Amino acid sequence: MINIPKGTKDVLPSQSYKWQFVEDVARETAKTFNYKEVRTPVFEYTELFQRGVGETTDVVNKEMYTFEDKGGRSITLKPEGTAGVARLFIENGLASSPLPVKTFYITPAFRYERPQAGRLREFHQFGLEVFGSPSPETDAEVIFAASSFLDKLGLKDIELQINSIGCPICRNEYNKALKKYFEPHLESMCQTCKTRYEKNPLRMLDCKEENCKAINANAPKILDYLCEDCKSHFEEVKALLNVLGLKYTVNPRIVRGLDYYTKTVFEFLTGKIGAQSAVCAGGRYDNLLSQLGGNSLPAIGFAAGIERLLLLMETTGAPFPAEQKPRIYIAGMDGKTRSLAFETAAYLRTNGVSAEVDHMQRSIKAQFKYADKIGAEFVAVIGEEEFNAGVVNVKKMADGSTSAVKIKELYTYLTKEI
Ligand code: ATP
Ligand code: MG
Repeated sequence: MINIPKGTKDVLPSQSYKWQFVEDVARETAKTFNYKEVRTPVFEYTELFQRGVGETTDVVNKEMYTFEDKGGRSITLKPEGTAGVARLFIENGLASSPLPVKTFYITPAFRYERPQAGRLREFHQFGLEVFGSPSPETDAEVIFAASSFLDKLGLKDIELQINSIGCPICRNEYNKALKKYFEPHLESMCQTCKTRYEKNPLRMLDCKEENCKAINANAPKILDYLCEDCKSHFEEVKALLNVLGLKYTVNPRIVRGLDYYTKTVFEFLTGKIGAQSAVCAGGRYDNLLSQLGGNSLPAIGFAAGIERLLLLMETTGAPFPAEQKPRIYIAGMDGKTRSLAFETAAYLRTNGVSAEVDHMQRSIKAQFKYADKIGAEFVAVIGEEEFNAGVVNVKKMADGSTSAVKIKELYTYLTKEI
């Protein structure tokens, strides 16, 4: 027996309707906000993520699934969705289409992490990306779209936290202040922080080591170092969130795990599924396109982790819509009645009514049992008499009531409200 790889999950036939619900709500939300779907390959050249996500991030440093293909190229399974969509945007010249370009994706993502509840090696994300707009309205729209998606899933008690991490201009000042602050503590900090101190001090705030976290607690706050432009942008985003009636808290500790963010960053958090508390996260990334060799165009987006959402929905008993069941099960007995059952089911299916028949040569009694187990709403048995009369008794399984219906009129009977 060969088992499933560590950190991955199967979706079973009895569970897939939950996934379909989340994906349907994602698509519906994207449609309402006028975002168009994009699909990018599961693997890209490794360099895209090194340059896009950033060499000092955990994702690139520790978590990527990277291998050499038979042609000797370094390939990486996508650890997130944004870099690929940014590449798609640049490579296909979408900068010359009417701006903003509003896109969404549903994709698997791969990270070599320690598997635990809500943390997998293959997981899935629903995400939005908007290209070309620098305005705070776009930040507010993207955050509102995420919130609207979570609402439509029936999720409650999710906290929205926002922050601004500035632009390279204010970041430069802030990094200097951070270095000054960390310098006397550096000796006692972890190796990763020491490296980050040299390369990207902002990332030190993301450290999970207890000792480093304690030192981080008193570090200078980015919000005190924002330049005028970043400050007024953040103020406008907050004002618009108020207009939309979205509750949020400002958390100056959010720096996000990916290097490409600028200005607004945000996370939607839950306290109900343990340590993996972020169900959705995102932010502005005004320099990613130019970093990847494209036009210098601003952009913003978010990604929500589908497995984490499902875990939260299951934990909190959020209502899933009922699973689709067959409208009718048609039982036959022998050669010609089975054949008529098969033909009738085929006719119904062709016309969009879900119908089921026997595949296992079962007795009538066993077929009834099976029909009940799979949740068929109606059952009709075609025996010798029914075959000759062209009429069946249709049994409504919910209350046991029956109606005599002409076989030729089954479609009409089943498609009117009963
Ligand atoms: P975390 O702090 O949980 O590690 P992250 O900052 O690495 O999250 P992002 O890169 O922002 O996460 O990804 C967006 C969303 O994708 C997260 O909010 C989370 O819901 C989901 N996600 C990220 N990594 C995983 C994973 N390994 N397994 C399942 N879901 C994940
Ligand atoms: Mg992570």
